[in-house]
Amino acid sequence: MNAVLSKFKAPKGTFDIIYPDSENLEMILRIGYETLILHGYRRISTPIFENTQVFVRGIGEDTDIVTKQMYTFEDRGGESLTLRPEGTAPVIRAYLERSLHSSGVPQKLFYFGPMFRRERPQAGRYRQFHQLGAEAIGSDDPAIDSEIISIPDAYFRKLGLKKYRVIVNSIGCVNCRKPYVTFLREFLEKVDAELCDDCRKRSQKNPLRVFDCKEETCARAISEAPVISDYLCDGCRTHFHSVLGMLDALGVGHEIEPRLVRGLDYYTRTAFEFIFEGLGAQNAVCGGGRYDYLVEALGGPPTSGVGFSIGIERLLRAIDLEGIKPVKLPRLDVFVAAVEGTPREAVLRTLSILRSASLSADTDFMGRSLKAQMRHANRLGARFVVIVGGEEFERGEVVLRDLDSSKQCTLKNNELIHRIRLVIEAKSGANNE
Ligand code: ATP
Ligand code: MG
Repeated sequence: MNAVLSKFKAPKGTFDIIYPDSENLEMILRIGYETLILHGYRRISTPIFENTQVFVRGIGEDTDIVTKQMYTFEDRGGESLTLRPEGTAPVIRAYLERSLHSSGVPQKLFYFGPMFRRERPQAGRYRQFHQLGAEAIGSDDPAIDSEIISIPDAYFRKLGLKKYRVIVNSIGCVNCRKPYVTFLREFLEKVDAELCDDCRKRSQKNPLRVFDCKEETCARAISEAPVISDYLCDGCRTHFHSVLGMLDALGVGHEIEPRLVRGLDYYTRTAFEFIFEGLGAQNAVCGGGRYDYLVEALGGPPTSGVGFSIGIERLLRAIDLEGIKPVKLPRLDVFVAAVEGTPREAVLRTLSILRSASLSADTDFMGRSLKAQMRHANRLGARFVVIVGGEEFERGEVVLRDLDSSKQCTLKNNELIHRIRLVIEAKSGANNE
């Protein structure tokens, strides 16, 4: 076959997920869903696009996401729509629209899907990426903050990951943030000359976010800046200490990082990240926190909430770096090869019988010779080849070839499934000993 080079490429910052990565992804998600279900969370799927205001209000007008990163377009009816850059605001929109509180609070929901941000593509930073996230809406109990932090920890452990740290902070509420921000502004004015353009703007509009800047010069300039944790009001301080105590009780190792803030405006109190070794600059695999102002920002009544979101591409990379092989590629059980001249219907019927018996089965769709079919079966890694056709076909028989032992035998059609099962089970029995 000639290699035909397409002039089309996946858009910048996006990529195809092809096997075996796609199979790794499946396996990882299955373990993630299991973990979330064990903790009492149920899945929600929201649309991939929303009315733009859901994100402008829900993330905050001054954030990088809203000012620089959204894929916003006007649809043919003139409505402004945006491809979702994150999952929390849409979940809250659905919570309010569908009055989910009436089925009991807290509502414990999880989601998985692609997110879209027009960022500068680099390792671990893409324009379409995937998040697995959870939200617990309606409770301000510190126990639920600690539950939310313990879920990614339980998940990562289940995957066999070890090289990560959990960092936590409290970023307070409006009460404590107001006086703190005055001090922070005063400090930032003094180091103004050393800040990047973005941080200069941030120090006016939303000074807390200078801590989120990725520039080293800014990090140095603010190394002596006052930190929010020194200014927490009594309520926030008590809440934070309770969360930390419960993390200890749950055995979730953590470090307090007074400079940790979240990039999204609606966050309050608990903020946390899971930081992995070896991932370079994009080392946060999971981020989250409490967002007690979000529901109101989207037009609902005062309602607490807390959640996390895991960047799946970064998680896959962490798994790779730690040398974890989450999936053994499922082996093709049977390749059905046909002797030249065999009716296609006979081949299809054999495939169908095998698949109905839960044996994975494939055949040749390229008109290959029997020899080339055997080669193809090997390339696919098949365990058995069933040869249909010839004299055996006339007698209601097939040839079964075991590609591992290279032994073959002739069988009645109705003995086929039983025989394959016997061999497979004998093998898996031997492996379990
Ligand atoms: P970062 O500081 O790395 O930009 P963020 O604060 O923008 O992260 P969140 O909005 O909290 O991240 O998203 C949660 C997680 O989603 C991140 O911890 C990360 O693993 C992942 N993530 C965020 N943006 C991207 C991206 N552009 N490409 C791949 N993964 C991403
Ligand atoms: Mg970001």
